[in-house]
Amino acid sequence: MFDVDHFIGERQPKRAKWNSFVSGFASLGIFFTITMVGIVIAPIFFLIAAMIAWVRNSRYPVIKMTCLHCDRKLKVEPEVTKFTCPYCCITLRKNGDVWKKGDVDWIE
Ligand SMILES: [Zn+2]
Repeated sequence: MFDVDHFIGERQPKRAKWNSFVSGFASLGIFFTITMVGIVIAPIFFLIAAMIAWVRNSRYPVIKMTCLHCDRKLKVEPEVTKFTCPYCCITLRKNGDVWKKGDVDWIE
């Protein structure tokens, strides 16, 4: 459910915003479970977290791509045109439909 790694905000800017809600509600659920105070209502928070994660996944699809440098699989939102690979830290940039290495500004 959680896709936590470096530069997630660059590759999945929309999903990254939702991730804070998901982890927020999940943390509340864990908190209530640990303290025993709200163990009855804790499942509600887990349910809300799961629902937000589900809505996020269905609303914001990602495309799978392979890093040009280290050949690792990455998930990127379709409208993202530039991001940093979390594994090899190289900058990838979309030029038209083609991904290229480097941080150069391409002339349209
Ligand atoms: Zn890479």
